[in-house]
Amino acid sequence: MTARLIDGKAVAADLRRAIAARVATLGYRPGLRVVRVGEDPASGVYVRNKDKAAQEAGFDSATLHLPEATTEAELLAVVARLNADPAVDGILVQLPLPRHIRAEAVISAVAPEKDVDGFHPLNAGRLASGEPGLVPCTPKGVMHLLRAAGCSLPGARALVVGRSTIVGRPMAQLLLAADCTVTIAHSRTRDLAAECRRAEILVAAVGRPEMVRGDWVAEGATVIDVGINRLESGRLVGDVEFEAACRRAEAITPVPGGVGPMTIACLLENTLDAAIARRGA
Ligand code: NDP
Repeated sequence: MTARLIDGKAVAADLRRAIAARVATLGYRPGLRVVRVGEDPASGVYVRNKDKAAQEAGFDSATLHLPEATTEAELLAVVARLNADPAVDGILVQLPLPRHIRAEAVISAVAPEKDVDGFHPLNAGRLASGEPGLVPCTPKGVMHLLRAAGCSLPGARALVVGRSTIVGRPMAQLLLAADCTVTIAHSRTRDLAAECRRAEILVAAVGRPEMVRGDWVAEGATVIDVGINRLESGRLVGDVEFEAACRRAEAITPVPGGVGPMTIACLLENTLDAAIARRGA
C-alpha cells in the first residue's frame, strides 16, 4: 500500500481563494500588522511571505520592522498603539524575539480580539474551555487538512507528539473538540513507538528529523507531519520517516508542501474572523 498524499499547497490555495472572495464582499480591507524585531534570518522569510499572502487576499497588510536594540517597553508601546488603532484587526508579533524581551509579556499585551496568532493566554484558555476564540494557525491548518482528506474524526484515536503551546497543546484541544480520543506524547513518554502504533490519527510536532519511524505507524493511519527540519545537506525533512510511513499509512502530509502552506492561510482566516467580529460582515 502507498499512502495518499494530503496536498497542503492545494488545500491552502483553496482556502486563500475563499478568503479573498469573502474579503472582496466586505466594505473595508481587514488590517494585519506583523511586528518583527531584529534580524533573525528565518523570521525575515516568514514575515515577507505573510505580508505577500495577506496583500494578495486583499488585506491592508504591513510589516513593522524594529531594530534589534528595541526595548521591551518600546515594543509594548508599539503593541498598545496597534491595539488602539481601529484600522488594525490582527496583530502578529513574530517569534523569536531578542533575548532581552520577554515573549510572554508581549504576547499577553496583544488585545485578545486582535491576537491572530492565538497565543494570548485568554485565547488558549478559551480553546481549553471549548469556547470560541482565535486559535493558533498551525494546528488550525492541520484540522483543515484532516477534514479535506476526508478523515473521520469522532471517536478516532488521535496521538499528538509534542506539547508546545504553539502546536502540540492547541492541536490536542482541537482534536478533542472534534470528538477524537486524544493522547499527548512528549519527551518523557515511556514507549512512544507503542503509543504511535495505537494511533488512527498521528500528528508529529517534535522538531527532530524523521524521529517517528515508519514501522511505528499503524496500518491505515492518517499521518500529519508538522515538523520542518533542515538537514546538513540542505534537504527539508519532517518528523516522520516519510517513505517507510507511506507504506503503512492511508494518508500522509509531505514535507514540504503539507502543513507549512496551511499556517499562513489560517493566519489570513484568523485576521478575517477578527475583522468580522470587530467590524461586521
Ligand atoms: P518545541 O521545541 O516547542 O516542542 C517540541 C515538543 O516535542 C516538546 O513538547 C517536546 O517534549 C517534544 N519532544 C522532544 N523530543 C521528543 C522525543 N524524543 N520524544 C517525544 N517528544 C519529544 O517545538 P514546536 O512545537 O514549536 O515545533 C515542532 C516542530 O514543528 C518543529 O519542527 C517546527 O519547526 C515545526 N513547526 C512547523 C510549523 C509549520 O508551519 N508547519 C509551525 C510551527 C512549528 P517536552 O515538552 O517534554 O520537551
